[in-house]
Amino acid sequence: MFDSLSEGLQSAFKSLSGKGKLTESNMRDGLKIVEESLLESDVSYSVVKDFMSHVSDKALGKRVLLSLRPQEELVRIVHEELVETLGPVDPSLHLNADRPTILMLCGLQGSGKTTTCGKLTQMLREQKIEPLLVAADLQRPAAIEQLKVIGEQLGVPVHTETDHQDPVKVCQNGVARAKRDGNRVVILDTAGRLAIDEELMAQLKKIDRKVGPDQVYLVVDGMTGQDAVNSAGAFNDALELDGVIMTKLDGDARGGALLSVKQVTGVPIKFIGTGERFDALEPFRPEGMASRILQ
Ligand code: GDP
Repeated sequence: MFDSLSEGLQSAFKSLSGKGKLTESNMRDGLKIVEESLLESDVSYSVVKDFMSHVSDKALGKRVLLSLRPQEELVRIVHEELVETLGPVDPSLHLNADRPTILMLCGLQGSGKTTTCGKLTQMLREQKIEPLLVAADLQRPAAIEQLKVIGEQLGVPVHTETDHQDPVKVCQNGVARAKRDGNRVVILDTAGRLAIDEELMAQLKKIDRKVGPDQVYLVVDGMTGQDAVNSAGAFNDALELDGVIMTKLDGDARGGALLSVKQVTGVPIKFIGTGERFDALEPFRPEGMASRILQ
């Protein structure tokens, strides 16, 4: 899989002087080809620069040039480095044994937060766990309705309070209800905006402080490239994130945003969303994604 996926790179290497073979003198051109491939994959510029300086140190060593196929060796080094940077793998939701586990989902509007609530619910249902969903996005009545429909579809309760204006209270009441009803997991679907704003961040920080979620996951749209990186930086500054869920990787996106978001937040990529259906959530696997980024 690895060799066939790097076909694009292999053919780019053919343009190198010296009959397409990497030599000491054209190694920098070889590295440039890798760099361009990462930029085409939507990895942000500063992350690419950082990453490539790491890779250059390794690639300029004798190991690459002494190997029979230097360009494949170079791609292998980049692949290894990508896997390392994208890891570690941690698909666990870290459920508590003695009290409900509170999962808080945050992210920009349209990133796929509410859909991801449904996906996590489906995953938990397969483990015979019935979560309580809490509709804490009070700005958009449609968001509350959407979560209710998801609850009905998946047969789990949804805590809603249409007359309440304070999302912190709604979350607190939701957690109290989960304790009373014996739900092992509470999923908070928080408000998003089309762009980052201070009011949103203040609200999320308040929920984080007063409700004390066990896990805070940032949901990011993988199709949005550089925007994904900027918003991830802002959420990461405001909240102590525990993981990232990147959605919409079923499309054309080559997944470079994952590398940037990982670099910016430093927290594990937990899952990737690969479709609109509730079963379209996969544990993140760095190997497959590294090959995709490096096509
Ligand atoms: P929210 O505003 O963050 O709650 O976003 P929604 O959950 O309402 O999702 C916005 C749109 O993205 C909806 O049309 C979803 O069906 C769609 N969506 C969510 N996740 C994925 C995914 O992994 N792949 C695709 N193709 N669409 C997704």
